[in-house]
Amino acid sequence: MTASVAWLRRDLRLADHPALLTAAQESPDETVCVAVVLDPALLQQSDRRASRYLASLAALDAELGGALTVLHDPPEVALPRLCAELGATTVHISRETTPYGRARDARVGKSLAQAGVSLRAAGTPYAIGPGSVLTGGGTAYKVFTPFSRAWREFGWPRPAPTPQARFIRADSSGALPAPPDDATYEAGERAARRRWTEFLDNDLAGYATDRDRPDLDTTSRMSIPLKYGEIHPRTMLADLVDRGLWGDADADKLVTELCWREFYADVLWHRPDSAWSDWSTALSDMTYADPTHPEVAADIEAWRAGRTGFPIVDAGMRQLAHEGWMHNRVRMITASFLVKDLHVWWPVGARHFLEHLLDGDIASNNHGWQWVAGTGTDASPYFRVFNPVSQGRRHDPQGEYVRRWVPELAHLRGAAAHEPWKAADGYAHGYPERILDHAEARLEALARYEAARG
Ligand SMILES: Cc1cc2nc3c(=O)[nH]c(=O)nc-3n(C[C@H](O)[C@H](O)[C@H](O)COP(=O)(O)OP(=O)(O)OC[C@H]3O[C@@H](n4cnc5c(N)ncnc54)[C@H](O)[C@@H]3O)c2cc1C
Repeated sequence: MTASVAWLRRDLRLADHPALLTAAQESPDETVCVAVVLDPALLQQSDRRASRYLASLAALDAELGGALTVLHDPPEVALPRLCAELGATTVHISRETTPYGRARDARVGKSLAQAGVSLRAAGTPYAIGPGSVLTGGGTAYKVFTPFSRAWREFGWPRPAPTPQARFIRADSSGALPAPPDDATYEAGERAARRRWTEFLDNDLAGYATDRDRPDLDTTSRMSIPLKYGEIHPRTMLADLVDRGLWGDADADKLVTELCWREFYADVLWHRPDSAWSDWSTALSDMTYADPTHPEVAADIEAWRAGRTGFPIVDAGMRQLAHEGWMHNRVRMITASFLVKDLHVWWPVGARHFLEHLLDGDIASNNHGWQWVAGTGTDASPYFRVFNPVSQGRRHDPQGEYVRRWVPELAHLRGAAAHEPWKAADGYAHGYPERILDHAEARLEALARYEAARG
């Protein structure tokens, strides 16, 4: 028997999986060893994501009938050894597109080649592989709208069929660590499909207008299953077609949001350096607050803890801490507060988000931050400073989101929850005073911006 090896990373599913399908088709007796490597470099980034990843692996193992092979050594050591054990000559992967993943795969490819094994990629975690959609001049798109038009025109194949394979667990497999209990999100491919179907049945109608309302909480929350590859975006796009929803305004908006995910992956593919430094040089002379200065550090800590005294900011930061997820509109508001009210360079906030977000993704997160900070592609102009009070009143009109996450404000009715300083009993339950004056902070941000532009 000669099994093929499929090494899964952020593609923890069996359906619509081109690499797994190829592994099954190319194995002489359709026998596949599905392997994962518990990479400490990735697991150490975030305890929360590590737990969620283990939960997803447990679900995958169950789908495979307990046949998941778990490797604990670095992949460049563990995979050649596994191939030698199984007599495999190819390791199948989904092409990785992040700077870390690309460097790792280049390293692993070399060590496998030395052992006479090839590393073969099919598919990516995206409908269209990053780097594929190019301008007429063969260059990368720098602006979202033309990218999204070209992305739709480029098109993508129908979902790949699920392989009919015999899955085997290698004798040398290590044990899969038990995931800690986490009732907030169910992990795995089946849960992802269930969540997606629920969203299509119940919340897609109205998505285009309601998606900016954190109080309604009706967005898909598919960012988490997408992060672990429990579902492929192409499956989601095909479902919209199959349900006859293609072209419908709500579905169209959702497709545009999925396209943002693809755009940022594409941007990072072309500019791996932009993961942790400004994509654009427009603000390279900007002066930021020193995060090690005790007063700045205390303000950053108040932001992290959800104790800035600005209700919508604090609600968002507490949702992040509690759930490992935050509504998109509130991600923008909280990020703006750190960058433009506290004058802190975006990577400080991006790191905090990546530590806590269950959907933490280097491309969407770091380019989402750069969009807010005015240093990225399509960036909102730096001089557009979000007012946390009017943003709160607009997107959480009855103050429900704030009351859900900030119990010290639960006694304030309706939109009054956004301005506790106006109520006689606003601070009766221990809510902190504002750490800054927003109008002054805004002027300071604009002054720094003008100075940076010379
Ligand atoms: C500062 C900041 C940090 C962010 N960090 C992340 C992150 O680490 N991981 C992440 O997946 N998204 C991130 N986003 C994008 C967005 O906030 C989340 O994808 C979205 O809130 C997830 O909720 P949902 O699945 O209910 O979204 P829905 O509104 O249901 O959207 C459907 C899908 O479209 C994609 N999507 C939606 N909006 C965006 C966007 N602005 N950029 C890229 N993809 C998008 C996601 O895959 C999402 O699951 C960030 C945005 C900002 C402003």
